[in-house]
Amino acid sequence: MKWNKPGHEFDELGGKFIKNRKLIVIGDDFDQASFYLNRRITDVLQFLNVPVKLVKFSIKNLQKKWFTKLIIHMLNFKYKLFKQHAVIITHYKYQDVNKAIMLRNILKEIFPNLMVYDSTEFLEKQMSIFAAYVQDKIYVRDTCIIVTTGCTLNCKYCLNFTPFIKHAKSISLEKLKEEADIYFKVVDYVGFFQISGGEPLTYKYLAEYIEWVAEKYSNQIGQILLATNGTLLPDERLANVLKKYGVILLLDNYTQAVPSTKPTRDKLINFLEEHGIDSRDYGENQQFFKFFPANEDYSKLSEKELSERADKCWGLQPWRNLRDGRIYYCNFSSFAVTAGIIQDDPRNYMDLKNFDCSKKKELLEFFMGYSVLGYDTFCTLCNGINESNTLERRPAGEQAKGKFGWHSGMTLSEFEEMNL
Ligand code: SF4
Repeated sequence: MKWNKPGHEFDELGGKFIKNRKLIVIGDDFDQASFYLNRRITDVLQFLNVPVKLVKFSIKNLQKKWFTKLIIHMLNFKYKLFKQHAVIITHYKYQDVNKAIMLRNILKEIFPNLMVYDSTEFLEKQMSIFAAYVQDKIYVRDTCIIVTTGCTLNCKYCLNFTPFIKHAKSISLEKLKEEADIYFKVVDYVGFFQISGGEPLTYKYLAEYIEWVAEKYSNQIGQILLATNGTLLPDERLANVLKKYGVILLLDNYTQAVPSTKPTRDKLINFLEEHGIDSRDYGENQQFFKFFPANEDYSKLSEKELSERADKCWGLQPWRNLRDGRIYYCNFSSFAVTAGIIQDDPRNYMDLKNFDCSKKKELLEFFMGYSVLGYDTFCTLCNGINESNTLERRPAGEQAKGKFGWHSGMTLSEFEEMNL
């Protein structure tokens, strides 16, 4: 989205939150905030420092719509829920997310003026606006940091453009610490702090870094996530750190494209189980979008079309990359800079170094998808990563034949021919 009124894009909703600052969570499982957040929802909401009331609503009440409505009327009678100027959040275990949505919809139907959200949408979007307007705090759904561009694989459609990275580089521990210090001075709370690469398990100081971040910023991080391609096993020190700080491993699955990765991946799964380390295991049919190089010349699109396309690339809140003390509009644009595909452009990032706190609402808007351009300069070279990207997808992990140099104007078919 292109900025119209920087610093005021969310004034209307923010104003409503100021008048309705109590939170009521209705649901039947409060122990896990979301699929990627292994924390109680109350712990995540705690940093907002507003009253939170939990109302148990058993899932069996949701089986029949009329019964649900009846129970809601009884709850209203009992708790006077809707006279409390509160924001209502419906919350169920992540497997039952549809139940939360159904309950939200029924509540909206019965009480049209109610501010009601299901927990996923609240944690991904409205909570950022709530935090900024009610508490002058910055809450962000997620941010990713790259510790190394070195990898054990060379995936053709790597989201980090590994085939174009000729000289892989690890970031020094001091620099990574400095990045986090700059970031957490400005950002009060991040839902997921994701550590990625390259393959982060090749990074020599990974255990030390995770331990340092988790100790220093535990009150500002909902969940540390670690993405891995499943080709390496953690050593004992790293395993202890992962367990101690409840890090979730995001376990990519490239076994269809690279069957030789399977034995180690299987060992890794056993290893994680034995050590009590949590993970999210992507299934065998994991796929990569062929989102780069460009399938056609997107620079011909109008500004409006580019902006609309960029808006579709994300769910409720875009993925952000932290690099050089800056937050990038699009993760992939930042990775493209690192791979030497595009030049850094100040319109694609916000600098957090020496951040002017009076610009907090602009930062919130940037995190939520607003920018000077309304899109990223990399959008002209990128097929987009969204449901509207109808390009073929491939089994994740197909390997490129070598390292390539990027030249401007390279098309997807030219890149694929080089890889035949
Ligand atoms: S089109 Fe590509 S560069 Fe643009 S926002 Fe989408 S993923 Fe990012």
